[in-house]
Amino acid sequence: MTHPIVLVATPIGNLGDVSHRAVDALTTATVLACEDTRRTGSLLRHLGIDRPRLVVLNDHTERTVAERLVAEAIADERVVLVSDAGMPAISDPGYVLVRAAIDAAVPIEVVPGPSALLAALVLSGLATDRFAFDGFLPRKGSERSARLEEVASQQRTTILYEAPHRLERTLVDLEKVCGGDRPVAVARELTKLYEEVWRGTLDDAVDWVAEATPRGEIVIVVGGAPDQTVDDDRIVSELRAALDAGDTVRDAADSVAARLGVRRRHAYDLALGLRG
Ligand code: SAM
Repeated sequence: MTHPIVLVATPIGNLGDVSHRAVDALTTATVLACEDTRRTGSLLRHLGIDRPRLVVLNDHTERTVAERLVAEAIADERVVLVSDAGMPAISDPGYVLVRAAIDAAVPIEVVPGPSALLAALVLSGLATDRFAFDGFLPRKGSERSARLEEVASQQRTTILYEAPHRLERTLVDLEKVCGGDRPVAVARELTKLYEEVWRGTLDDAVDWVAEATPRGEIVIVVGGAPDQTVDDDRIVSELRAALDAGDTVRDAADSVAARLGVRRRHAYDLALGLRG
């Protein structure tokens, strides 16, 4: 009998985020594919789950191991995939296994759960209605410049993963291509003791990062490029409503700029004119 292959999300920091379904899937797994047996072993110990057979599936082994796991699912094994943290296949191994299962007509299921990208997005205060996930930017060369240009012209909010020691370089590069006015949030150590979300403009972010040298796991959320099609009448009417409701000039400009996707400085100048 063929069993579905199950992708199970695991905590990105706080172990209290394991779902009941995740515990069920891990308990009934007979083969558990993971990136690191020590890390997954300690999660299983924490949950009091007897260790199933662990198979290492990482960027180097994924292609060959995926074929084997698909064969095991067909041969009656209950195959589960986890990554070190968060959702498998999101900047983590998993995609190749999903493809191999689809190609072999083996069903796949998911136990959704924590993922740093959505956690950071909803905390960022930036538009959540349309967004793009760009994972880790290429580290250098023309590939990096091309991707930065894409982020700069993107009207959707963009979510990026970044290592702490590359954060400063990336914020500086983003500031160069997007302009200093662009809103950004840097989410750090989500769901952990030192969870923190810094919010501001890229200009300020460059100063902040040089002073604060933030450590730990980091997600950068960049506001979308201004929508050039929103006319000033619309901006002014929303600013007037915000000011009438008691907002300061700065708050009105910030909220209207974020909502309409227009340049914050432009909204601020219009708001100042209204207060005149
Ligand atoms: N599969 C994971 C997910 O669903 O979020 C992502 C794995 S990727 C290899 C690791 C990156 O995710 C980190 O470098 C960081 O950018 C982000 N990340 C993971 N956990 C995080 C946390 N607790 N707080 C902030 N960012 C986190």
